[in-house]
Order: sequence, then C-alpha cells, then structure tokens
Amino acid sequence: MGSDYVYTESGEKIRLVPVCPKCRSHIRWTLYGGRKGAQAPATCANNIEATRVFRNLSELITCDWEGIVERNKDGSVNVFNKDGTKIPKQAIKVKNNGL
Ligand SMILES: [Zn+2]
Repeated sequence: MGSDYVYTESGEKIRLVPVCPKCRSHIRWTLYGGRKGAQAPATCANNIEATRVFRNLSELITCDWEGIVERNKDGSVNVFNKDGTKIPKQAIKVKNNGL
C-alpha cells in the first residue's frame, strides 16, 4: 500500500504513510498494473466520490485533491500530485510486539 518503513537508531519501526497535501487524510487508489512505471489516478479519502456512507451531511468533509500513483521497481507505490511533485508523508510509530 505504498508504505515505507524506516528504523530509528533505537530500533523503533516507523511507517511512512502518504497523506493528502490538502487535508492530511489518507490517499486512495487502485493500481492493477504490476509493472514498474504503471500509473493510476489517486484521490483523497475525503473525496466525495469515495464517500459511500452519509451518516450526517453536516459532518461531511470533502476534499478535491487528485494525484497519481506510480509503481516502483520493487512493487511499492509512490504517490504524486498531478504536477509530479511529491506529497507529504506522515510518520506513524509501529508498536514493537517483542517478537
Ligand atoms: Zn484531502
């Protein structure tokens, strides 16, 4: 899912998740092509077309960000803005379960 993992010096595992440059929500995409360089459109998880359950319209947040995902050589995915610039990533600590 386009996640990168890095390890800190103390051995903590950090997951880098691409997030929407506009609202910091998650990015959604479907990329069937497995070859390097395969591309597909990406949208924000708050995109109105991605919202299938309307619990309360007054709480509905929508975001019109759109981008591109591109398959890397190693099978992971990079997310870009439509103009090809990179989008921010959020660092999430992965809990070490001691195994
Ligand atoms: Zn967004």
